[in-house]
Amino acid sequence: MSTPIGNLGDITYRAIHILKNVDLIAAEDTRKTRILLQQYEISNKLSSYHSYNLKRETPRLVQLLLDGSAVALVTDAGTPGISDPGYQLVQACIKEQIRVIPIPGPSAFLAAIAVSGLSSHRFVYEGFLPVKKGRKTRLEQLAKEQRTIILYESPHRIRKTVDELIAYWGDRKCVLAREITKKFEEFFRGNLTELKEHLTLTKIRGEMVLVIEGNSGKNYDRS
Ligand code: SAM
Repeated sequence: MSTPIGNLGDITYRAIHILKNVDLIAAEDTRKTRILLQQYEISNKLSSYHSYNLKRETPRLVQLLLDGSAVALVTDAGTPGISDPGYQLVQACIKEQIRVIPIPGPSAFLAAIAVSGLSSHRFVYEGFLPVKKGRKTRLEQLAKEQRTIILYESPHRIRKTVDELIAYWGDRKCVLAREITKKFEEFFRGNLTELKEHLTLTKIRGEMVLVIEGNSGKNYDRS
């Protein structure tokens, strides 16, 4: 189920009801989820479901579900399965014919594209680019992508990524959405080369989503 991406107010009535009433909340980071639960005065059982313990925890949670328990899966922020643990558990449940119920809510990519001003009729969500292996290939493949492209990035890698995007894709319109729904929320709108300059002038912090215009035929300079 989806939980806030920053502002704790961004949660549905249904999500709160479910967090109160399930038998167990499987959480990526139990400390973070505790903060959310405290905000809504919910005391319920938590267990850790993290990329490090997926192998052990997936069959355990499946067994609990088969035995009749109701389990809610939450991650640190946003929607599980979107660059977060979730996919393996969903797959395992489907295999065992366990009903998986989505509780929709925030996701950083959706909030970013919605206010980006870039075409949102058709877009591709790429999440984090591979850090090393496969990075060049992915950048080359995406160079011809005509739909708007959405990337997740960390503050310490954003400069390198923007440099590479300019090199592989040419200059294009982009939006850097930072700290969405939080105190220092900021949207930088411009071209990739302007963003590069902005990043050399500003020490950039926090969580960020980079939305980039697709290949319009005009901006692709590596044909
Ligand atoms: N499951 C989450 C979702 O639905 O968006 C994404 C989890 S992923 C591990 C974390 C990344 O999401 C961050 O590094 C950042 O790129 C993006 N992100 C999460 N919260 C954000 C926010 N408030 N503002 C901007 N980006 C955010």
